[in-house]
Amino acid sequence: MKKIITSFLLLSSVAFSKETILVQGAMDMEVDYLIKSLENPTKNHIGGWTFWKGNIGEHDVIVSRTEVGLVNAAAATAIGIERYNPTIIINQGTSGGHDSSLHTGDIVLGTEVVNIGAIRTERKEEGISENMRDGIFFDVVQRLRDKDNNLTTHKVFKSDLSLIKVAKNIKYTNGKISEGVIGSADQWNREIERIKYLNTTFKTMTEEMESVAVAQTAKAYDIPFLAVRVLSNTEIHNEDFNPKTALWCQEFTLDVIKNIK
Ligand code: SAH
Repeated sequence: MKKIITSFLLLSSVAFSKETILVQGAMDMEVDYLIKSLENPTKNHIGGWTFWKGNIGEHDVIVSRTEVGLVNAAAATAIGIERYNPTIIINQGTSGGHDSSLHTGDIVLGTEVVNIGAIRTERKEEGISENMRDGIFFDVVQRLRDKDNNLTTHKVFKSDLSLIKVAKNIKYTNGKISEGVIGSADQWNREIERIKYLNTTFKTMTEEMESVAVAQTAKAYDIPFLAVRVLSNTEIHNEDFNPKTALWCQEFTLDVIKNIK
């Protein structure tokens, strides 16, 4: 009897630990290493987006090249979900630092992700000049409808805590690992004053152009999500885009995937 129970437990734990992981990057340089790491890969082009399905260890893994920007990322995520039924979604790639504690090569685990381009302004009369600091967060774009037809407004979207726990225990030698807010928008900001404003307003550690679209789509389907971003550049310290960081982020993400048990 004891033996039967033990083997049942073993079997059920093996079945539970096999996940279907949708892992994304916007540009070739952000997915090439992950694609190379797939066992038995098959390629599928749907609409304007490309997916590579294979295995990493015990998991089914779909690498998705989302292309750049929020629209591309949202569409690629919805298609990826409908086509492959992932149980976990990971968005990863390069980003630009907002926080003075961070340098190129550092990793940010996005405990929270927010749309920093969602801004409305109050009416100002002709002749009164515009000021970026008068923007008010326009949370309607982060609204989602649930099965019961209720609309819920989300201030931020969160990464899954158990995935964050796996990620923060990975050994990483190209920088440090931090947790915090990742800001997304169809923007690339290089003005220090603007970056400082975003950092103060949204508490952003770093900015990029996809995570929030993925987080919002994952939330709509209630699929656990993780945002992982490497700093590839930071104006705060005048550090220019380093393409090697795209590889470092994929190496880190591959270790995360291998450690999801
Ligand atoms: N040089 C590229 C364009 C990159 S667009 C080309 O010509 O094809 C920016 C991409 O890099 C986005 O996918 C975004 O997520 C990421 N990124 C890296 N650093 C960024 C920054 N400082 N601000 C915004 N996005 C950044």
